Amino acid sequence: MPAAAPFNPEDIANAKYTERPVKEGVTTKKLICAACDIACTVVGEVQKGRVTKVRSSDNPIFRDNICMKGIIAPKGLAHPNRVLHPMKRVGERGSGKFERVSWEDALSDIGTRLKKVIADHGPEAWAVSTSQWNTSTDHGLGRRIMNHVGSPNWISGVALCAGNTAAINRFTYGWFPFGDFANTKCIVLMGHNPRRHSWTPLYNSIRGAQAKGAKLIVMDPRRSSSAERADIWLPLKVGSDAAMMFGWLKVIIDEELYDKEFVKNWTIGFEDLKKRVDEFPLERVAKLTGCDPEMIAEAARVYATSGPAVIPWTPITDMQRNSTSGIRLQTILRSICGNVDVPGGELLQGFNPDIINESEIEMHHVLSDEQKMKQLGSRDHPAFTYRGQLPFREPTKRVYGQEYANLVMGCHMATPSETFKAMAGEGDYPVKAFFFLGNNPLLSYANMPLIEKAMMNQDLVVAHEQFMTPSAQLADYVLPADSWLERPWLHDMFGWMSTVRFSEKAMDPPGECRSTFEFWKGIAGSLDRPELVPWDTLEDFYDYRVARTGNTWDELVKTEVHFKKPAFRTYEKTGFATPSGKVELKSSILEDLGFDPLPYFREDPPHDKDYPLKMFTGVREDGFFQTGHRHIPEMRARHPEPEIFLNEKTAKAAGVTEGEWVTVENQLGQIKAKLAIKDAMPDDLVRVPHGWWKPEMQQGTGHLSGALDYGDSQLCRDDADYLDREQGIPHIKGIPCRVVPLVAEAPASKPAEASQPVMEPAE
Ligand code: SF4
Repeated sequence: MPAAAPFNPEDIANAKYTERPVKEGVTTKKLICAACDIACTVVGEVQKGRVTKVRSSDNPIFRDNICMKGIIAPKGLAHPNRVLHPMKRVGERGSGKFERVSWEDALSDIGTRLKKVIADHGPEAWAVSTSQWNTSTDHGLGRRIMNHVGSPNWISGVALCAGNTAAINRFTYGWFPFGDFANTKCIVLMGHNPRRHSWTPLYNSIRGAQAKGAKLIVMDPRRSSSAERADIWLPLKVGSDAAMMFGWLKVIIDEELYDKEFVKNWTIGFEDLKKRVDEFPLERVAKLTGCDPEMIAEAARVYATSGPAVIPWTPITDMQRNSTSGIRLQTILRSICGNVDVPGGELLQGFNPDIINESEIEMHHVLSDEQKMKQLGSRDHPAFTYRGQLPFREPTKRVYGQEYANLVMGCHMATPSETFKAMAGEGDYPVKAFFFLGNNPLLSYANMPLIEKAMMNQDLVVAHEQFMTPSAQLADYVLPADSWLERPWLHDMFGWMSTVRFSEKAMDPPGECRSTFEFWKGIAGSLDRPELVPWDTLEDFYDYRVARTGNTWDELVKTEVHFKKPAFRTYEKTGFATPSGKVELKSSILEDLGFDPLPYFREDPPHDKDYPLKMFTGVREDGFFQTGHRHIPEMRARHPEPEIFLNEKTAKAAGVTEGEWVTVENQLGQIKAKLAIKDAMPDDLVRVPHGWWKPEMQQGTGHLSGALDYGDSQLCRDDADYLDREQGIPHIKGIPCRVVPLVAEAPASKPAEASQPVMEPAE
């Protein structure tokens, strides 16, 4: 049984261990894996200048934190189809025809064309999309350049995955908390299912906590592996999480199981909350969620009375029409049950004062208020845009020492759907230049048809990528990106925790691959603004960022962690970073923005008999992270084809059988997939696989390497009924659909020719 990671980073720093011996000619590097978003500490073995093996850390605290994606990385990143040189489009956009150019020529042309877009349409006509998970980070340099140039239109997949949770948590208590799994007595998983090879450290922490006696409550329509290990499993209807939490609050408030002292001294809006909660008697909650009222009550009692409890971040409430309310209800449960900033609960850590954090590097103060208010999505869905987040400037300065806190990169973002509308010529103003880094926008956001139209309508599209993804195929330039094996990394836990970790550079990047630091330094130069990135190298930049520690980067990178000792109940000295200084159960900022200041529950739109089933997507398969890893034979051997899951009864009613190719359809589009019968699925629910394309299939418009066959974003609606109101993010947990047998031939996938110089496999 793995152990929960210690909450105090001092234990990591002080752990005694001996490094494993290595063969002659092999050296080791301490690395942080960035093959997914969870950042395991691992070891790279290096031979003749190449990483030949990735293995688990020698430090016993991290020993179990590694999965198959990390282990396969040296081979996956040495794949023959890796983009090794800058590529310029030579045919029509989307023709799939590119030629090799130099970095210098590429940057010069990009700078000229970007300046023209800005001169013709204003700086807001430049939008950037990143998934900082895939690039590890861009250090805040993208935002820094955009802020100086005058564009607020930065978007990211974190808009529907953790970043938005961080932004919404601020409305209640001013920061995004992190759980003390090592000392907790109860863990609540909302639809989240960490496994041995997916979210591995979280899986290990939960298993470790259970081994020490912590209770596990799982809400999930599926009988997931976490549900099977749970003390209580609530098999709720898909998308009804917010209703379930109202049920818990009803029990906790009616039975007076909450922390009365904390509520009295440190919250505002309790009486209003109570009235709202009274609208949710258990009979109503049982109807909305499909769960037994006694079980709902029992789970609520276990959460409220077990001792300090943790509700870890979940992607499920990130992606619903009730997302803002769902996330707020989690914050309210934590708060009124006394779990905020206590040992075994969830801590508001603040910045590490020794490190120049990314929020500081981003320099949001230089972007004028006028440009901030032009951020796409501000008017209708302002919660995580500047308009929704600016009221936190004063409280954040008061409590955490600086005005802007871009936690998990999710505060101060534009709304993705509004950005794509503007790019497609359907918004308030035109967006005509689009950059994306380590991000595959066609498959990472809702409504692929809109995104494709938006990209085809651009004057300039630039990708910084490792592989020729479907989105990269629509670019003017594809610039080759390095990987986590090929650069150092100062990992500041995405800005929301005060522990900082370090990763060494293990090998040189292949070909002409460059880091995000070099990418943005090149773009700043091409815009005649070299002073915006004044450091010569990434290591120089890191020396600047760690200077307050009194160490150099070279000294710190050899260590495991740099940390601020955890402190508890810090709000007793500073108050909370909200306008009132209290936990705002009723949010003053949401009220000022014109929204309901209390959580609420929007029921589903009327049933459409043509689409009798409901689908959810967004779930990872163990061998893949987001839209990546499809090129690695070992991973594809595990998941050769995109599969939908149905239970036997639902499959029978739809007239489809195990292993058959089917079509999943709704009002927006359709995808093809193979059917797998899973008895863990409830009736009438369809699990759609996320992010599928096949690198071996034909590139360019009309094909996009299978993205048009399999990409789930073709089913993800972003019309008003399927958007969260406050954030404007899509509802992808319960979209009406139907499943029918595939009438055409099953899609063939013929391996593509390697279009790049072949690299030696690592092993
Ligand atoms: S869980 Fe796997 S892919 Fe993710 S960081 Fe850890 S080793 Fe890497």
